[in-house]
Amino acid sequence: MPSLQTDIRVIGGDLAAAFPSRARHPLKALDAKAMELSSQDQELKAALFRFVDVTPACRSLDDLARHLTGFLEEVDDRPPQLDRAMKMAGSRAGRTALGAAAAAGVRHMAHRFIVGESPRDALGVLRDLWKRGVAASVDLLGEATVTQDEADRYAARCTEAIDELASAYAKFPDRPQLESDSTGPLPRANLSVKVSALTPLLRPEAPEVGERDAARRLRPLLQRARDHGVHLHIDMESLDALETTMQLVFDLLDEPEFADGPSAGIVLQAYLRESPDQLDRILAWAETTARRPPLVVRLVKGAYWDHEVVAARQHGWQPPVFEVKADCDRNFETLTRRLLEARPAVRVAIGSHNLRSVAHAIAVNRELQGDDRDLELQVLRGLGDDLQHALSEHGFRVRTYCPVGDLVAGMAYLVRRLLENTSNDSFLNEQAKGVALEELLAAP
Ligand SMILES: Cc1cc2nc3c(=O)[nH]c(=O)nc-3n(C[C@H](O)[C@H](O)[C@H](O)COP(=O)(O)OP(=O)(O)OC[C@H]3O[C@@H](n4cnc5c(N)ncnc54)[C@H](O)[C@@H]3O)c2cc1C
Repeated sequence: MPSLQTDIRVIGGDLAAAFPSRARHPLKALDAKAMELSSQDQELKAALFRFVDVTPACRSLDDLARHLTGFLEEVDDRPPQLDRAMKMAGSRAGRTALGAAAAAGVRHMAHRFIVGESPRDALGVLRDLWKRGVAASVDLLGEATVTQDEADRYAARCTEAIDELASAYAKFPDRPQLESDSTGPLPRANLSVKVSALTPLLRPEAPEVGERDAARRLRPLLQRARDHGVHLHIDMESLDALETTMQLVFDLLDEPEFADGPSAGIVLQAYLRESPDQLDRILAWAETTARRPPLVVRLVKGAYWDHEVVAARQHGWQPPVFEVKADCDRNFETLTRRLLEARPAVRVAIGSHNLRSVAHAIAVNRELQGDDRDLELQVLRGLGDDLQHALSEHGFRVRTYCPVGDLVAGMAYLVRRLLENTSNDSFLNEQAKGVALEELLAAP
């Protein structure tokens, strides 16, 4: 389809031209350098990840420096900067200085992706984004709970967040392009939740047990979101949780008390080989439910690729995810088109930092005679900041996913983001390496 490809090039080129200049963000340039170093060397990357993982548990700067040097000793080809750092670890004073620098580094990295320790802390950032024409979805960090008490605490944090976000967003100024599409009004406040944080009983072999337990906590959250006009989005996690998550969302939203709200959504992961069948299932539900607000479907590629591949190989199974990146990207484009064609039964949100995937969605939407406001584009805080800026400058409806919580709760999230940023296959890495725009926008 040559004309579609031309449109993608034009849209992608216009967006790229609106990216803020790196020169104005020296700290971001430094981050990019650190990510580049670790993406080039697998041993260094592993050492960095193990260090990030252990940081919240370290009791002193001395302790932290010992862990850092211990991990780095396993790296054969250390860049000279790291060799110099390791020499500092010979004395106690040197270790304290090294530990402080390393702790500051991890905190700096975390702050790039996490907007505050609590929703209240995050309100300044959320207000700022909104004023600049950017909506948000707040994610309360915490996942894979192991006790009922932990799940209760997560649900209580969600309840508080719904109240806080509803009252804060009510005072924000009007931003018409964020507040309605051709189906009707869109809630200003938006919260993303994870099922594995709402129950410790997620078991792939008995999905109904986790579903029952999570439903006890999700139902009151849906009621509260409905009463306060807040959108509730249910994230998708690893494949183990997929069946429970889908069934939970469908069964709860079908309950008569939710026929008129709240606005709610689910996630489809294009890296899964079975995602076309999962989309069939979502559309079959959306087209037959008696519920009035359309289900929002957020299409992403999927954040658990490394986990799914390793877990399947341990059992000698074929991974449930595509193993060739271009296959995943092509599937993403096919699913994008199918979702856009399925409106108004669903609302479509495209979650990607890949300029090609995003420009493709915008071009297909226009080809289908869709209005730009009937397509939402979503990015992650810290990874999609430049794209977010370019999209809002061009008047698109953009929503930034903003995680909130402390470093301990955020560690799994932080590691996923670092994996994404340092993966050789990732679009962001290609872009950082300076691959030409024409190549970045080529069909997968
Ligand atoms: C707003 C928002 C919400 C999100 N919510 C969720 C969520 O609920 N659940 C979830 O899982 N993810 C979620 N994500 C994360 C998302 O899955 C990743 O950010 C996304 O995969 C990165 O893709 P990309 O298009 O930005 O980049 P690209 O660089 O184009 O794609 C990278 C992705 O390609 C896939 N991939 C990498 N290597 C290969 C390979 N060799 N073969 C096949 N595929 C490969 C992986 O999925 C990898 O993440 C969300 C993202 C956003 C923006």
